[in-house]
Amino acid sequence: MTNASTRCGYVAIVGRPNVGKSTLLNHLLGQKLCITSRKPQTTRHTLLGIKTEGDTQIIFVDTPGIHTNQERAINRVMNRSAASVIADVDVVIFVVDRFEWSEADEYVARYISNHEVPVIVAINKVDLIEDKEELLPHLQFLSAKVNAADLIPLSALKKVNFDQLEEKVKGFIPEAMHMFPEDQITDRSERFLASEIVREKITRQLGAEVPYQVTVEIEEFRVERTVTHISALILVEREGQKKIIIGNIAKTLGKKWKKLSEKEKENFRKMNEKDKIRYNQEMEMYNNKILNLN
Ligand code: GDP
Ligand code: MG
Repeated sequence: MTNASTRCGYVAIVGRPNVGKSTLLNHLLGQKLCITSRKPQTTRHTLLGIKTEGDTQIIFVDTPGIHTNQERAINRVMNRSAASVIADVDVVIFVVDRFEWSEADEYVARYISNHEVPVIVAINKVDLIEDKEELLPHLQFLSAKVNAADLIPLSALKKVNFDQLEEKVKGFIPEAMHMFPEDQITDRSERFLASEIVREKITRQLGAEVPYQVTVEIEEFRVERTVTHISALILVEREGQKKIIIGNIAKTLGKKWKKLSEKEKENFRKMNEKDKIRYNQEMEMYNNKILNLN
């Protein structure tokens, strides 16, 4: 994550309602993050979708949409958040629906042209176009409307032409440190919450001794029926802080260990030789785990 050769950047997916923005984001991520629907304006809140592949981390922003009816307060609010999103990204994917070009699309086009941000026009839902030849004149039409870095016909639903889109997007992602762990796919994952809980517990238990330098990385997050297995890595900046945290963990484990061993001793006496050997091996492993912590 601290490697200088890594890339990280933000991508906004914009377009009038119902063109397929959320479908595109979900399929680019390979996970369902956003609600998609036939009803426009399903997306009310800005949501981050994170995709890390090798050195490149792309953070997609699904905007609440840009709305032409400025009269309605909710639309004004949504426009404001869309505008602030556009100002902060490295590239914009402007999604349009096949040959449709309405006043709303015109509005979005004008909107993004106010910002000095590269624009890729995604002509979506091409799976519904029978004669692909018809696309050519439309591409010319769109070029005249939008100062686009590229125009890519695709299908968000059928995942057509994703390679081309992703290649183009990557070209605009600057060299930067990754903002999120590579396995995180949204800014609101359970993993993220789990790491925050661990971090919170540490800071609460240790107080001022370990201030803000604690980073928690979730190494494993596995759901097995009703049980969730979570392994976390706790990263600190200084050796001294490590000792404090390990000391605390060892203390807690040690207490449990004592309690456990009383009961286990009883069981041990009842065991046959073969089981005793296996038990000893297991105990040694367990002891080593505790030793490793120190
Ligand atoms: P948004 O409002 O821009 O986020 O649009 P959604 O992603 O919610 O999609 C609106 C509707 O268009 C949904 O019914 C999608 O299934 C449909 N849709 C999105 N992309 C495609 C596509 O590539 N092909 C087809 N046939 N339908 C699509
Ligand atoms: Mg949406």
